[in-house]
Amino acid sequence: MTETLVATGYEPVGPVETPSGFSVEEVIVAGDRGPCGGVNMAVETAFEVLGIVAGREPVYTTHPIVHNKSIMEVLTDLGLIVESDINKIPVGSIRVMSAHTEDVEQTAISEERGMLNIDTGCLLVYKVQRAGLRAVKEGKHVIYVGTKKHPEPEGVLSVLPEGSYTFVDIDGDDQTLPHHGKVDFVSLNQTTLSTVGVVEKIKSLRELNPSLQIPDPEGICYATDNRQNAVRRRLEDQENPIHALLVVGSQTSHNSKELRNVGKNEAKIPSFLVDGPEDIDPLWFSPSIKRLMITSGASVLDEYLWRTVKYFTDRGTIVKFIPSTEKKPRINPETEEPVINSETGEVEYEERFFVGPDLTPLWERMAEKYGTTA
Ligand code: SF4
Repeated sequence: MTETLVATGYEPVGPVETPSGFSVEEVIVAGDRGPCGGVNMAVETAFEVLGIVAGREPVYTTHPIVHNKSIMEVLTDLGLIVESDINKIPVGSIRVMSAHTEDVEQTAISEERGMLNIDTGCLLVYKVQRAGLRAVKEGKHVIYVGTKKHPEPEGVLSVLPEGSYTFVDIDGDDQTLPHHGKVDFVSLNQTTLSTVGVVEKIKSLRELNPSLQIPDPEGICYATDNRQNAVRRRLEDQENPIHALLVVGSQTSHNSKELRNVGKNEAKIPSFLVDGPEDIDPLWFSPSIKRLMITSGASVLDEYLWRTVKYFTDRGTIVKFIPSTEKKPRINPETEEPVINSETGEVEYEERFFVGPDLTPLWERMAEKYGTTA
């Protein structure tokens, strides 16, 4: 694994007072980290909407657009109002929907209330919804592994008919599935979980339900997977061991917590989750922690990661960087499968395949109501 020494763009401010015992000499920054295509699209859309509206009327959301405290603080400073009760949002308001999608009943209520909904739901979450619908149409029963009280499972399961799925709580006790005779199953899951955790859950379901043919899971998003695997790969290097893991991400972000758990539960090293440098306690870094890996969840913009890296450069720590290996497959919107190049027979990749929602209705509303779009 090649690690390159990087200039962070920050001058160390030192000497910074740190408790004796602070011993981090080297920080390794993961290359596969930070905002995924879906989060970038949702955040960019939210900023664009707030820019178009320009304070002329409030913009609502019923759920944080992305699970990141710092980004949500900036968006709310710009005029975004978080109101979880859809019935409390005034009739006819502009509403930006979350990247995780939502229960379709919520969308229906907002439409009844005449809201202008701007859907920033991630393509990959919608792909899981469509996979569930397809499976039900084919007469299969959906086993869905997810977390409770998260909008993504709520959105996916809300499109499936009652009785056509079984929800399996990743954090819950192993459960016996209702007996479905000769019914075929499909295993889907929340995109932000850990591949390892989902595979383990499916394994335990198979052990408890030996008469059922439970297939391998589908549905971890490539971005979540890539970020976890980048950490796993580096933690396996025993020649230059990592002594602790620091993940930049919010406590409300499931994919960030799963990233932290790769260090905590799999490698069993001290592993921390912080929104930024203000959350760091220097006492975490005992004399034995000399090499620290830093990464960030899929809902974290890089500027928050670099603020955290600066905490260490200010204390004289050198920074090395692992190059990114992430490639984004180009998806055919009709088949929802990766596009295969007809000449090479290989998957085609592109930088940005997450197309944001059409904002024409918003531009039209602004022009109609205010006579000008800006
Ligand atoms: S983590 Fe994956 S599923 Fe979630 S928003 Fe990002 S790309 Fe989409």
